[in-house]
Amino acid sequence: MKRLSTAEAAFEADFAALLAARGGIETSVTEPVRAIIAEIRARGDTALIDYTARFDRLALTAETLRIAPEEIEAEAAKVPPELLDALRLAATRIESFHRAQMPQDLHYTDDAGLTLGLRWTALDAVGLYVPGGKAAYPSSVLMNALPARVAGVGRIAMCVPCPDGVLNPLVLAAAKISGVTEIYRVGGAQAVAALAYGTTTIPPVDRIVGPGNAYVAEAKRQVFGHVGIDSIAGPSEVVIVADGRNEPRLVALDLLAQAEHDELAQAVLITPDASFAGQVVAAVARELETLPRAAIAGRSWADHGAVILVRDLDEAATLANRLASEHLEVLLDNAEAFAARIRHAGAIFIGRWCPEAVGDYVGGPNHVLPTSRTARFASGLSVFDFLKRTTSIATGPDGLRRVGPAGVALAEAEGLNAHAMSIAARLALLNERSV
Ligand code: NAD
Repeated sequence: MKRLSTAEAAFEADFAALLAARGGIETSVTEPVRAIIAEIRARGDTALIDYTARFDRLALTAETLRIAPEEIEAEAAKVPPELLDALRLAATRIESFHRAQMPQDLHYTDDAGLTLGLRWTALDAVGLYVPGGKAAYPSSVLMNALPARVAGVGRIAMCVPCPDGVLNPLVLAAAKISGVTEIYRVGGAQAVAALAYGTTTIPPVDRIVGPGNAYVAEAKRQVFGHVGIDSIAGPSEVVIVADGRNEPRLVALDLLAQAEHDELAQAVLITPDASFAGQVVAAVARELETLPRAAIAGRSWADHGAVILVRDLDEAATLANRLASEHLEVLLDNAEAFAARIRHAGAIFIGRWCPEAVGDYVGGPNHVLPTSRTARFASGLSVFDFLKRTTSIATGPDGLRRVGPAGVALAEAEGLNAHAMSIAARLALLNERSV
């Protein structure tokens, strides 16, 4: 864990090193993924079945690629009722927050007499990748599928690898609650390629969303352009701005909640209170003695964790903006006012009773968020990822007379004569006919 202090001369260099350490693309998988995509394009289902046998040790046929409705029902029925209730509560809250995001169309006639429109329409078909190699993430199913459904996407196809043929009841229950019924038991780059280009069994989609390992991320990068994708997620991050009036153990647990995701995750504490910082660091060490995922969390905290001592909260706000973290916790008395000063963060968690983990599951806003400082220009997943805009212009003779001559002038200046003439010829006709 790194210790930085804004009062020290080396601070800017130390902070720059902290920022530079994030990001980076895994390039070792570029060629293998290119080969997998080419195979899927050339051999479709046959290649998909071959790769699934090789990577997931699962023998499939064209008939069993898709998980049958009765299998979904049977697996979902294995989930204990209290967990189903928790999933339903999460789903209701996520759905209602995303419903509130739905944008309005525009349609108005301006001073020149042109009627201008902007209409939002949903994508026809979306592919949802659900990782299934090492662990299962039912919350990710809800966070990816529900915004698509709320946006009005016509078809949601889900791919989830099932190593050794094992289905995951929680993932299938989450899919069922989200209204997803088209589910294929395939994963990795081959699943992404099948969703992008289609096979006999899997019709192609228009956009692919959802997290996954390096193969999945690289495949999404390579199919981008042919289909849309969401962002490529990097390791998870939290920045916690806390004063000395917090319980050190609670702040330590919040830091570890991020660190336990993965060895590359980053947890950063910013505080004006040196003695409190010391207490939090000690509490992290204590919790690591018993935390089940201590090996991962300990590595993350040791390699990527940081404690930044600031002279005041103004400095804390400046640094939080420069870090542009995926998650920002504000554990201060006047947390709302501090949060209002933050322009760059994926999601903000405001107040001492609002740990980031609430947002991971049951808050309502999406937990798929921009990482690696991309919150400077990117946002978390929302209904907007599943909608597109079509604009329209309508005009009659009067509107064309008002704006046409300027259009002719600009077209001529650009040397695009047919453009100029298509307007000018109409203007001439209007003059002739004195419409
Ligand atoms: P996964 O589903 O992403 O990957 C499993 C697939 O990887 C296999 O089906 C196989 O096809 C492919 N694969 C494995 N080895 C291969 C090889 N040598 N060559 C080609 N393909 C190979 O599951 P995972 O591996 O457990 O990874 C899940 C990832 O998702 C983790 O990195 C996790 O951090 C991430 N994740 C991120 C979020 C988020 O919100 N950012 C949420 C959940 C999971």
